[in-house]
Amino acid sequence: MKSEVIRYSCLKGQGRAKRLLRRSVISGRLPHGCLFRGPEGVGKTLFARGLAAALNCQAEGRKDLLEACGECTSCRKYASGNHPDFMLIQPRGAGIKVDQVREMITSLEYPPFEAKVRVVVMEDVHVMTTQAANALLKTLEEPRPGNLLVLTADSSRDLLATIVSRCQTISFTPLSLEDTVDILQEKHGLERAEAELLARLAEGSPGRALTLRTFEIVPLWAELVEFLSDPEKRGDLHLLDLLDFAARMAELKGELDELFALLRRWLRDLLLDDRASLSLYRPAGEGGTDKRWNSERLSAKMRALERAEQQLVRNCNRALVCEILLFNLQA
Ligand SMILES: [Zn+2]
Repeated sequence: MKSEVIRYSCLKGQGRAKRLLRRSVISGRLPHGCLFRGPEGVGKTLFARGLAAALNCQAEGRKDLLEACGECTSCRKYASGNHPDFMLIQPRGAGIKVDQVREMITSLEYPPFEAKVRVVVMEDVHVMTTQAANALLKTLEEPRPGNLLVLTADSSRDLLATIVSRCQTISFTPLSLEDTVDILQEKHGLERAEAELLARLAEGSPGRALTLRTFEIVPLWAELVEFLSDPEKRGDLHLLDLLDFAARMAELKGELDELFALLRRWLRDLLLDDRASLSLYRPAGEGGTDKRWNSERLSAKMRALERAEQQLVRNCNRALVCEILLFNLQA
């Protein structure tokens, strides 16, 4: 956890979400259930932390109630990451479990230790089990006074209507390329060139950019694209290479969907013949794509990728999913 208080003025982008939150906080009409919905890695949890700090900041006469002072006792506790009235609930294994929800509900039976508002953040509720979601409904509708529940969810995934209807939804969007590059440089110390490449590939999500970097997904992807694009690397002779790639892909575990997202992007660029985008990761002149890959074959590859993504969601054997996918992609 970062040891600094999250101040809204330092958070980039999400102007609409900031305006909505500020208006609710100033008018004292912040609902007790908020749903931060948007793409992965664009700052939803960060905004929830900032909101918690702002709501409990003890500084007098703040001009902007959404801005924590960063100096008072409360702010210092948020900065150190151990404020007793801040709870973060994250998916355990495949999702948020009913036990986690029950445990949270029990702790809400007691008033906050010291905060005006105890903030409970539940991350990625799109992967919450139905049982857990049902256990949450009553608390979400009417939590005890002094508690605020902030749920975060991926906008591309379905959510139970019963959850959505009990919250005020605040939409988050991808950041601009410049903001993403700035965050990667200023907060994470990346060099400009790397920050730009990752920002483009992650499509406005600093979180995804960092995942791509941490798990070294881009180099593996580049190798794969080169392997799959080379018409000479076909047939039985390269079966072992193919199996080796599949094994390396499977090692990515939970981050495998990020590699799939890059593969989808590559196929999409080929389909649209988007040379500008292709040249981002395949400098001109560096090998060609198999000329037999017409739009029909490329569409078939896209479908193979979609099938593989669905199999991952259903928890099929990763290595097997990757092997079948690679066979289909190199066909
Ligand atoms: Zn403060």
